[in-house]
Amino acid sequence: MSSFDFSLVVDEVRTIYGKGFIPLHRPVFVGNEKKYLIECIDSNFVSSVGEKVCEFERRVAEFTGVKYAIATVNGTAALQVSLQLAGVVRNDEVITQALTFIATCNAVTYCGAYPVFVDVDMDTLGLSPDALQFFLENHVEMKSGVAFNKTTGRRISACVPMHTFGIPCRINEIIRICHEFNIPVVEDAAESLGSYVNGKHTGSFGILSAVSFNGNKIVTTGGGGMILTNDEGLAVRAKHITTTSKIAHPYEFNHDEIGYNFRLPNLNAALGCAQMEMLPNILLVKNNVAKRYQEFFNNIGVPFAKALSGDISNHWLNAIVLNSYEERQAFLEFSNIEEVMTRPVWRLMTHLEMFKHCQHDGVKNSLWLEDRVVNIPSSVPYDKIDTLGV
Ligand SMILES: *Cc1c(COP(=O)(O)O)cnc(C)c1O
Repeated sequence: MSSFDFSLVVDEVRTIYGKGFIPLHRPVFVGNEKKYLIECIDSNFVSSVGEKVCEFERRVAEFTGVKYAIATVNGTAALQVSLQLAGVVRNDEVITQALTFIATCNAVTYCGAYPVFVDVDMDTLGLSPDALQFFLENHVEMKSGVAFNKTTGRRISACVPMHTFGIPCRINEIIRICHEFNIPVVEDAAESLGSYVNGKHTGSFGILSAVSFNGNKIVTTGGGGMILTNDEGLAVRAKHITTTSKIAHPYEFNHDEIGYNFRLPNLNAALGCAQMEMLPNILLVKNNVAKRYQEFFNNIGVPFAKALSGDISNHWLNAIVLNSYEERQAFLEFSNIEEVMTRPVWRLMTHLEMFKHCQHDGVKNSLWLEDRVVNIPSSVPYDKIDTLGV
């Protein structure tokens, strides 16, 4: 038995998005995308060196209010390098949430480290400061100012909270708690470009953070990512190791450490420059859609995930919380047959073969949410697209 009429939701989605198949999230290219791409091709600089990359970085830094932005091939690479620069090395542990996209944990693993899973808050769907404090107080032993896990003996060298679907987590509290234990915070801001906590952009709280510009994110470069930091030294290191650690020289090739070919190509950055111009308008339209959804779901008594008061979500992906696993399955089946794409939240990392042996705190809220959270269509509506640039 379901607590509401599924067809009402399908009708509401169709009122916003119209007929035909409605995807969960599609990109919009109605600005200078083609113009900048042509400029890029004409310049002959299509790869990892070029003006568009610097321009794109400048735009993202300006938009987010961070001092330095370093463009990478994708968000996962941005996170991997951020963790490395935060000091994560082989056999360390990194605290994160089980309710996240796999890329968070992949990046930890690429550093040779092990994720440890702490629960999320029911309202923000992001890492819970209370659960974090409880876990650290019970499992950490400080040795000369360094946090060690009493159970595993491993060093805990970073904490990676994630701003789920663009809803900011309680990042200030998380930073304060981690500070007590000398654990650097690296924000996974892959989903939260355009989201703010008390007027401060997400991704500007941790010592480093990672943003994604994948095709399904709020704005896209096809594939792409960005490392954000306010620390000049870290910014210089980030740029250095993402460009094969090449020592700048007009013609000689010399490298001073193992680096990565993680620099974003100029072609992708061209797309990014145009997308950043559109971002404020995209945020406005998405906010209107979310407000409409919120009112609708309020009326039919279905919880709609939203930011804490004082915080701003970018409304990247809208999410509702259904009554039970059975209701969720029935709703997914119904809406997808009706060609309105809906999707359950990710399987918890603690269930995946690669991570199921990792330590966790019981992840009670995460388990509850895993059975009930569903994403619903969240693109900029097609009839608003023409007016976006105005
Ligand atoms: C998209 C995403 C990433 C990774 O970004 P890519 O650009 O796809 O590599 C990392 N973390 C989260 C939470 C994401 O949603």
